[in-house]
Amino acid sequence: MEILTDIRVMQQVADEHRAAGRTIALVPTMGFFHEGHLSLMRLGRARGDLLVVSLFVNPTQFGPGEDFKEYPRDLDRDLRLAAEVGVDLIFEPSVEAMYPPGFQTFVTVEEVTRGLCGAARPGHFRGVATVVAKLFHIVKPHVAIFGEKDYQQLVTIRRMVRDLNLDIEVVGHPIVREPDGLALSSRNLYLSPAERVSARSLSQALERAKALYRAGERQAAVLAAEARGVIEAQPHTRVDYVAVCDRETLEPLDEVKEGAVVALAVFVGRARLIDNCLLP
Ligand code: AMP
Repeated sequence: MEILTDIRVMQQVADEHRAAGRTIALVPTMGFFHEGHLSLMRLGRARGDLLVVSLFVNPTQFGPGEDFKEYPRDLDRDLRLAAEVGVDLIFEPSVEAMYPPGFQTFVTVEEVTRGLCGAARPGHFRGVATVVAKLFHIVKPHVAIFGEKDYQQLVTIRRMVRDLNLDIEVVGHPIVREPDGLALSSRNLYLSPAERVSARSLSQALERAKALYRAGERQAAVLAAEARGVIEAQPHTRVDYVAVCDRETLEPLDEVKEGAVVALAVFVGRARLIDNCLLP
C-alpha cells in the first residue's frame, strides 16, 4: 500500500493510472476507521482498479467549539486496517497543504444544505463540499463512495456533482450498524457506558417510525413525534432534530406520499450522533 501526502504527486499518480486505462475509486474519510469505513473500502475495491482512501480531518467542516481538536485519530491502526482490506493508496495531506495561506475559494451547495445538520452546523456543508471538490481534483476518481449514514452529505455531494458537471459516479453505501442497531461512528468513542445504552434509542426511534409507516401512518408530524418520544424516554439524550423529508430535496414533508427520509441528530452526552432511514 502506497502512502502519499503530496498533492502534486497524487495528481501525477492519478494521471498515470488514468492513462493506463485504470478505473480509480475514491473513499474519502476522516480516519479512525471502523467497520463502516471498511465496508465502503470493500465496495471501492470491487469498483476500482486503483482504490484510493483519503484520510483528512477537514478543519473547514468543523464549527467553532466543535470537536476538530479532539476528533479521534490513530494513523498506524488506520494504515493496518486499510492494508488488510486491500487499499492501494492512502492519500493523507496536511492541513497546510490543503489550505495554504491565502486560501479563499469555497463550494456552496445551497438548498439541500439549509435544513437538518446544515441548520445546526452553519458552514459545515460548505467545508464538506469544498474539501470533496478538492479531493476530486487531486485524486481524479471515476467513482467515489460515500455512506448513507451521512445522508445529507451524500445528497449534497450528488447535487454538487450534477450541478458542476463533474464526471464522477457517486455511489452510496448502506449504513453499517452494531448488533444492537447503533450506527457505527468514530464519535461513538465519546460515549460513556450509560450513554452507550441510551444511544440505542436512535435506531429504535427510526424503527418506530418505520413500523408506524408500515401500519399506514402518513402524517410526518406523527412519525417524527413518535420517533422523538422513543429518544426522549432515555436519559443522557438531547434531540437536535427529528425530521421527515423528501429524499432528494430534503424539504420537510407534511404528508409522506412517495417515500421519505427520516433523519435525526441527537446529543448523547457530548457526542452529537446522526442516523436516518428511508421510508419506501
Ligand atoms: P467519516 O470518516 O466519518 O467522515 O466517514 C467517511 C465515510 O464513511 C462517509 O462517507 C461516511 O458516510 C461513511 N460512514 C461513516 N460511518 C458509516 C456507517 N456506520 N455506515 C456506512 N457508512 C459510514
